[in-house]
Amino acid sequence: MSFLSAIAVISLAVMFPVLLSLRKTSVPGITSFCLACALSALSAGLGLTSAIAPPWIHAVIGSTLMVAAGVMTLNGFREFLGRKPLGSRPLVATLACTVLMLGALSDMFEDRDACLAVSAGVAGMIYFLAGVSILRHWSRKRAVAPYTLFCCVSAFAVAALHAIRVIAAATDFSTATEPQLWTTALLAARQLMMPLFFLGVILLLHGWMIANLRHLIAHDELTGALSRRAFMAGYERMFHVASGSGRQTTLMLLDLDRFKQINDLHGHAGGDAALVHFTRTVRATLAGRGILGRLGGEEFGIAIAGIGRPEAGAIADAICAAVRTTPASGRKGADIALTVSIGVAIAEPGGALADVMVQADMALYEAKAMGRDRSSIADSLQAASSASARALAGAAAQMRAAAAIAVTSAQPLSKAS
Ligand code: GH3
Ligand code: MG
Ligand code: MG
Repeated sequence: MSFLSAIAVISLAVMFPVLLSLRKTSVPGITSFCLACALSALSAGLGLTSAIAPPWIHAVIGSTLMVAAGVMTLNGFREFLGRKPLGSRPLVATLACTVLMLGALSDMFEDRDACLAVSAGVAGMIYFLAGVSILRHWSRKRAVAPYTLFCCVSAFAVAALHAIRVIAAATDFSTATEPQLWTTALLAARQLMMPLFFLGVILLLHGWMIANLRHLIAHDELTGALSRRAFMAGYERMFHVASGSGRQTTLMLLDLDRFKQINDLHGHAGGDAALVHFTRTVRATLAGRGILGRLGGEEFGIAIAGIGRPEAGAIADAICAAVRTTPASGRKGADIALTVSIGVAIAEPGGALADVMVQADMALYEAKAMGRDRSSIADSLQAASSASARALAGAAAQMRAAAAIAVTSAQPLSKAS
């Protein structure tokens, strides 16, 4: 079995620097997990010395380190799950109690097996608590849910293997059934369970980091709305799914009115607070329908699938009314009155996405031109022809620019001839 112990020690020793490298990220509980991994590696390493070193080194120091690793693991999970860390007192108290119990139940550390059984009992309890802690805060919706579940199952497996060790020691079962295959299997599982458990921890922390980065990329830092890129990608997806089932998609472009004046009157911080408040108000009015993104500055976008013209108009008007009637709070509690103009366009199934953007944009400018603080729904036929007119105008401008370049580059040649 010593080769399995060696594999366990090497695996834990390799995982330690991996965990250590994650300290640069702000993943909660990482310091505790690093310590837990290092202590587990040391404890398992001391197990390898039992043939050459005095037995009490493994029995007392190895056992105490194993319990300390358990406490650190529990602490790591508490921090990761957003709960208060245990602090140094419970750690010191647990270790002191463990040493006292080791002394009392093992003829003052003489009986090595009794020592190992006592520490297995304490460590088993701690891993059981860690498993319960993870289970209580487990949510299927979290991006790291599968890794969390893996850690939870591993924690219970570690606890169960420790419990079996205690039962075997208490009943002298292991000595009675020494050559049995399943005792060997249990021993192997005990050796390899800790590396497996820390592999789960590493996967969990990596998963958390990736989910966090994805969230940062996909969301605007100030308002929490989707970033322009994430919104456009979400809108495109929504459009294709809705088109596939023959449903319409609504695109709204929202632009806060005279926002420059708000910045001038209430300062940039006041403007920022107004943007946050505006996002909250729009979200509350949408009540879970569609997606909301910040397209840039004081411009936002909303996409909703499966609603028609009347419903889209009603939602846009409700947003205008909510923004108008709920002012934001500026410096010293001063009210910041806000209004918004909204351009609405309805995308028909199979239509061109670019046209819908142009339609919504034109409807927004119409709402601004009509006096702001209102919504305007694009007339699809008129806007589509205007979009083609725009495209033609754009193409004509490009041709004119190309002709101008050709004329200027031809001039020196004619002069030379
Ligand atoms: P209009 O009614 O025509 O839309 O007028 P407006 O003043 O809102 O339009 P304009 O586009 O001229 O001005 C937008 C202003 O929004 C300018 C810019 O200083 C401000 N702004 C853009 N992003 C932010 C931001 O993140 N925070 C703050 N406080 N202001 C911002
Ligand atoms: Mg603007
Ligand atoms: Mg504006």
